[in-house]
Amino acid sequence: MTIRIAVTGAGGRMGKTLIEAVQLAEGAQLAAAIERPESSLLGADAGELAGVGRIGVSVVGSIADVVNDFDVLIDFTAPEATLANAQVCANAGKSMVVGTTGFSSEQKSAFDAAVKPIALCMASNFSTGVNLCFKLLDMAARVLGDEVDIEVYEAHHRHKVDAPSGTALSMGEVLANALGRDLNDVAVYGREGQTGARDRNTIGFATVRGGDVVGDHTVSFLADGERVEITHKASSRMSFARGAVRAAIWVAAQAAGRYDMQDVLDLR
Ligand code: NAP
Repeated sequence: MTIRIAVTGAGGRMGKTLIEAVQLAEGAQLAAAIERPESSLLGADAGELAGVGRIGVSVVGSIADVVNDFDVLIDFTAPEATLANAQVCANAGKSMVVGTTGFSSEQKSAFDAAVKPIALCMASNFSTGVNLCFKLLDMAARVLGDEVDIEVYEAHHRHKVDAPSGTALSMGEVLANALGRDLNDVAVYGREGQTGARDRNTIGFATVRGGDVVGDHTVSFLADGERVEITHKASSRMSFARGAVRAAIWVAAQAAGRYDMQDVLDLR
């Protein structure tokens, strides 16, 4: 069975890579490509836009126009767009794969309510390597426990608009859960001035922005006399796009509910 996939934010960095990944995947076909209603890309061939040659799917300006043409929507856009798309997909009973990050707590609550009736796979990072790192971080935090200071470092390209990255926050959640801490209570986002000595219970975050860095994450477990570091470096957006297409094919066969990449990769 071939899963019909729609990609929104089709002209974006991830949108174009997702179109290419759908074309390369077995068991999936691009059924629709969506952009803003006022976009200059409307009517363009999605394959030409993504640099993979003509595929006969024109970019449209409204998800409502194509909602009957696809099985799963892949959405890597911005929180307000993803929220609006979730409402359309929920009304039409269409599954979603969502990679958008940077939701406020109000947007998160509205999104969670909207997607209840559908099958959703959402992850702050769809790469297989990062999802393996989540597993390794859980193991490391349980073994090293309260004997270490934990710091999360991330670097991304100059265009990224949210910080820390969704992946860094997910790493923080994994670490806090493993240690029985609440991330809201223990996260320290940057330091400046007279900060005082470090509290071992805290989890620190450091953010770097610049150039064309696709996504680097390092978690350091710092003890007296030794240091463990777990690092992931993405060198191509294709690692996220391939994972998202794999998730789309997987989620198409699932009952309504909320899933993430750990479910898709059977890492639980
Ligand atoms: P991008 O290049 O800026 O692309 C975003 C796309 O969404 C553009 O086509 C943009 O259209 C569209 N868009 C933005 N706001 C919109 C709105 N209100 N209504 C309709 N369309 C809208 O960004 P990107 O680098 O591809 O990243 C997109 C998102 O994916 C970010 O949240 C990023 O953090 C996330 N991301 C997640 C993963 C993961 O694995 N989960 C990996 C990479 C990126 P315009 O150009 O017209 O604004």
